[in-house]
Amino acid sequence: MDPDLKTIGARPPGAEITHLKPPVDPASLTYKQLLDGPFWQRVPAYQRIDEATFLDWSWQAKNSITNPAKLLAAIQDLVPQTFFDDVAAGFHQAPMAIRVSPYILSLINWDDPYADPLRRQFIPVASKLRPDHPELELDSLHEQADAPVPGLTHRYPDKALFLVLDTCPVYCRFCTRSYAVGLDTDNVEKVSLKATEARWEQAFAYMAQRPELEDIVVSGGDSYQLKARQITLIGERLLAMDNIKRIRFATKGPAVMPMKLITDTEWLDALTAIVEKGRRLHKEVVLHTHFNHPNEMTAITKRGLDGLFERGILTRNQSVLIRGVNDTVGEMQTLIKRLGHCQVQPYYVYLHDMVKGVEDLRTTVQTACDLERHVRGITAGFHTPTFVCDAPGGGGKRNVHSFEHYDRETGIAVYTAPPVKPGYFLYFDPIDTLAPEVQARWADPAEQRRMVEAAVAAAHEAQRSNARASSIR
Ligand SMILES: *Cc1c(COP(=O)(O)O)cnc(C)c1O
Ligand code: SF4
Repeated sequence: MDPDLKTIGARPPGAEITHLKPPVDPASLTYKQLLDGPFWQRVPAYQRIDEATFLDWSWQAKNSITNPAKLLAAIQDLVPQTFFDDVAAGFHQAPMAIRVSPYILSLINWDDPYADPLRRQFIPVASKLRPDHPELELDSLHEQADAPVPGLTHRYPDKALFLVLDTCPVYCRFCTRSYAVGLDTDNVEKVSLKATEARWEQAFAYMAQRPELEDIVVSGGDSYQLKARQITLIGERLLAMDNIKRIRFATKGPAVMPMKLITDTEWLDALTAIVEKGRRLHKEVVLHTHFNHPNEMTAITKRGLDGLFERGILTRNQSVLIRGVNDTVGEMQTLIKRLGHCQVQPYYVYLHDMVKGVEDLRTTVQTACDLERHVRGITAGFHTPTFVCDAPGGGGKRNVHSFEHYDRETGIAVYTAPPVKPGYFLYFDPIDTLAPEVQARWADPAEQRRMVEAAVAAAHEAQRSNARASSIR
């Protein structure tokens, strides 16, 4: 062998390679296999819809499903009448309004709608609903209590959450902001966070007076619903503040209506202009998306996301961990690899917030910790999401495994959040995942109090012994 080749570790052409592991079968890389072709034509109402129409984002918006009657008109005899009755009853009880895009509707497996991960996220069925946990409340993250101006939550020292409007291209059953987002329902009269410039002005004035604020999350509702000129207005106002260095536009849109990234060039150009202006000012402007299941990502999604990438728009993803949707190792790994395949960085996986009316969708702290172990190591560290619990009561996001105490029997996890707020923050596993005798204890208010007090006392003890061993003062 040529000695030079040897020193740099190269091999002469044709030399046999020793494999330490056998190469994988390319067919096993399922995250690369994106659904393509006119898949929507399986839905009776869309049988004659051509590609140009389906890719038209305004057609998607206009034809969104907002009630059980429209659902019936779209999918017709793909499912039995009993299913529609179940949806009608679920719809009546739900804290969120219904809105499903034709894109999502086309991706649901109507042969088995009860098990389908997209149906579970957007269309309630009464037969699967479970009673709420007694510790649940409507605004569990106390976003309103931490809002100096309506719709501006300033919880962390250097960043704030700016809820610019209260509508979304679809409504998720599990929305944390069911206190404000979407139309009033039979069960919830919403707080108003309309897209009014007068309210925005109050928020801008507050931000400008806070030198420590550097990072603004523009959310809602959903940035997809902002008109192009509103993206420009908000972007320009934020970029003009010396203190603001980072802006994120948050949207579920790419997951539920990816065609907007292909056909709404006005919106896309407005976003691109803000990103480019930010870059010239040495400020980061990025897009944060919300994909939860690999089935949400098709060849249309890849085309839309490729477009963002070509425009130099960095995209990160935040998922919610949802029972029956992405709570298996296989689904979570495929989701993460598929996001990476489309150049989206998986940023967070949130433990499902303590939201009303969706106990069938929450999982346990244990499940989140287990999944986290199975995810770290499969891909690049910067494509590895951090699993967090957004601590009920306003403690902010904590690493899911960083609890001071977790009683797996009663399903109580206790977190602290030293840089954010003093005190203890409790997360509760869904009751139906606990042993029958513990479920019975949760039915008794006196027992509830005892379980909570015991968990807090154990957390306090753990914290004291940690403090004794710690060198941090
Ligand atoms: C999530 C969140 C942020 C942003 O937090 P990151 O961890 O930086 O993504 C800011 N403010 C509020 C109130 C939030 O909930
Ligand atoms: S897109 Fe976000 S804000 Fe809108 S309903 Fe879904 S979770 Fe809530």
